[in-house]
Amino acid sequence: MMRGLIALTTLFVAVLGKETFEGHQVLRIVAKDETQLSLIKNLEDMVEFELDFWRGVTDVATPVDVRVPFHSLQSVKIHLESQDIEYVIMIEDLQVMLDEEQQEMESAARIAEPRNTDSFDFSRYHTISEIYSFQDMLVAENPNLVSKIVIGQSYEGRPLNVLKFSTGGTNRPAIWLDTGIHSREWVTQASGTWFAKKIVTDYGRDPAITAILNKMDIFLEIVTNPDGYYYTHNSNRMWRKTRKPNSGSNCVGVDPNRNWDAGFGGAGASNNPCSETYHGPRAHSESEVKSIVDFVKSHGNFKAFVSIHSYSQMLLYPYGYTRTPCKDQTELHNLAKKAITDLASLYSTSYRYGSIINTIYQASGGTIDWTYNQGIKYSYTFELRDTGRYGFILPANQIIPTARETWLALMAIMDHTSKNTY
Ligand SMILES: [Zn+2]
Repeated sequence: MMRGLIALTTLFVAVLGKETFEGHQVLRIVAKDETQLSLIKNLEDMVEFELDFWRGVTDVATPVDVRVPFHSLQSVKIHLESQDIEYVIMIEDLQVMLDEEQQEMESAARIAEPRNTDSFDFSRYHTISEIYSFQDMLVAENPNLVSKIVIGQSYEGRPLNVLKFSTGGTNRPAIWLDTGIHSREWVTQASGTWFAKKIVTDYGRDPAITAILNKMDIFLEIVTNPDGYYYTHNSNRMWRKTRKPNSGSNCVGVDPNRNWDAGFGGAGASNNPCSETYHGPRAHSESEVKSIVDFVKSHGNFKAFVSIHSYSQMLLYPYGYTRTPCKDQTELHNLAKKAITDLASLYSTSYRYGSIINTIYQASGGTIDWTYNQGIKYSYTFELRDTGRYGFILPANQIIPTARETWLALMAIMDHTSKNTY
């Protein structure tokens, strides 16, 4: 009976247990000076508010975006006003936006499932099973160009699929692209899907990508945090971390962009399992991270590594964990400038660029610090659209424009990498 009850409860939660965000607001907080900035930083430690920093504290010039649950809205606003800190309401009621997003997805799902990648709707968000079947269709349609490699499995047992684009050769110099390591950054997985189709469409037609692929292989992991991605669709749209339980805590998951062995556990990562930036019990504790580590090491010939996040429109290079400039800073800086100039040529979307620590904040255990220290010179991180109007809930009609402009920046990086690989 007890077991039946537990099973029933589990079923109930599984079916109806989707977290709602009614009355949650996203506030944009702007510091007037350094004093206010540190007061805003203090909010990170006020756990009773249960704040979710969409865009953390950087500098006086950069606003902080934070999701405030309904229960603490009044207190947070009073707290800010009493210290004369200015804020604006970016999102009035998060659940209203999530309902719109959900409705759009469901209306798209009513259309018959695509039978091939030409009829795949890139202007919609898709579930993990839809993206996985897209990958299989793409491989089946382009057997001489695309293959699927399973580099490991997630904590919950999902395959970690990587698409390999190759025109031949053995262990050619290679470029790595990943999207969705933070699961709620949906425009990234959607853009990754578009990139995959773009590569097969342009190979043999566009001289630049053709030249790259005749010399190098491209590896693309679209759903880099599959458990988290599944969870954003079925339980909690705002989920960022992995889904592995933490011993000694009720809080689940590790920030997979603080889990790498580069300044691991240093400033800019949390040792609290309940934090969104929890670094995990040890470096590479998450199989989603460890699988990439093992793959990159055993491959041994990666020349570029690009890890794609959202939001805030930035192109970043190492380091995040130290102020010491990386030895290729000048070249990486100039290439970033070229990449964002190309990106802006399409829709005038403006990007900031620089090293992680100088452009956002100190962050330790990050992906591209590790890849750079492994000798992969062209290591970059993107933060895609937007700058906070919608944040993580970017409307689906911005997917294709985002992917198209980002592709121009990726081409700049890949082209430069290819021309500087001998
Ligand atoms: Zn991210």
